Amino acid sequence: MTESPWQVVLVTGAASGIGAACARRFAQDNALVFCADREWDGVQALVAEIGASHARALRLDVTDEDSWNAAMREVQGTGVALTTLVHAAGISAGSPLRETSLVEWRRVMAVNLDGAFLATRHGVEAMHATGGAIVLLGSASGIRPAVGALAYSTSKSAVAMLARGAAKECLANGIPVRVNVVSPGGVKTSMWRTMPFFIDLVEKQGSEDAAFAALAGTGPAFATAEEIAAVVHFVASPAASQLTGAELAADGGYVL
Ligand code: NAD
Repeated sequence: MTESPWQVVLVTGAASGIGAACARRFAQDNALVFCADREWDGVQALVAEIGASHARALRLDVTDEDSWNAAMREVQGTGVALTTLVHAAGISAGSPLRETSLVEWRRVMAVNLDGAFLATRHGVEAMHATGGAIVLLGSASGIRPAVGALAYSTSKSAVAMLARGAAKECLANGIPVRVNVVSPGGVKTSMWRTMPFFIDLVEKQGSEDAAFAALAGTGPAFATAEEIAAVVHFVASPAASQLTGAELAADGGYVL
C-alpha cells in the first residue's frame, strides 16, 4: 500500500448491489475495505477489481455468530483497527400477510434483523475503544409499509430501533461509536431478481429498466447503488460527526 488508509471498513453484503457500491466508494477514498459476503465468488471478484491494496475478501454469513467471530478475528489478525462497519447484507421478501408462513417470516428476520443485530454488536465491540461508525441499511418500506412485504417492512423498521437503541447505549456508556441507518427507496440491484413478480414484470415490460420505471410509476425513480453508497459514505465520514441514532431516508422523497 502506497499511502496508509484513513478508514478501515467492513462491508457486509459486498458481493452485490449496494454493498459492492459501498466497498468501491470507500476504496476510492483510500480506505482498506474488508468485503464480506456468503457469496464467495462475488467478493473475490470485487476484491480482484478493487485491488489487494485496498480490499480483502471475508467469508461471512451474517446470521451466524461463529461466522462473525471468525470474520472479526481475521480483521484483527491483519493488525488494523476497524473504523467503519457498513451492514448491507439483506434479503427481500414479497409475500402478503395471509401467505406468509412462519418459516418465511423467520428466514427474513434471520438475515435482516439477526444479521443487523450481530453486525451492530460486533461493530461496537471492535470499535468501542478506538471509535468509529456503523451504518445499517434499512429501507423506506420500514418507514412506510410496502403492501405484500410485511416481514421485510417489519424487519427494516426494527433495524431503525436497533440503531437508535445502540446509539443511545453507546452515548450513555461513553463509547465513541455512531450508529445510523440509511433507508433507500427502490434501488436498481439484483435483489429484485429474487422476486417472481419482478421477473414477470421484466418479461412484460421488455427490460429491467422498463420494469423499474413501471414499478416507480409516478413516484420517485429507482436509485442506482452508487447514489446510495454516496449517502452511506457521508454518514460514515467525520463530516457527519453529529449524526447518531438517525434514520436517513435516501429515497428521493418516497416516504413523504
Ligand atoms: P443484493 O441482493 O444486490 O445484495 C445483497 C447481498 O447480501 C448479496 O450479495 C447477498 O449474498 C448478501 N447476503 C444475503 N444474505 C446474507 C447472509 N446471510 N450473509 C452474508 N451475506 C448475505 O441487494 P441490495 O439491493 O444491494 O440490498 C442491500 C441492502 O439494501 C439490503 O439490506 C436491502 O434490504 C436494502 N435495500 C435495498 C433496496 C433495493 O431496492 N434494492 C431498497 C431498500 C433497501
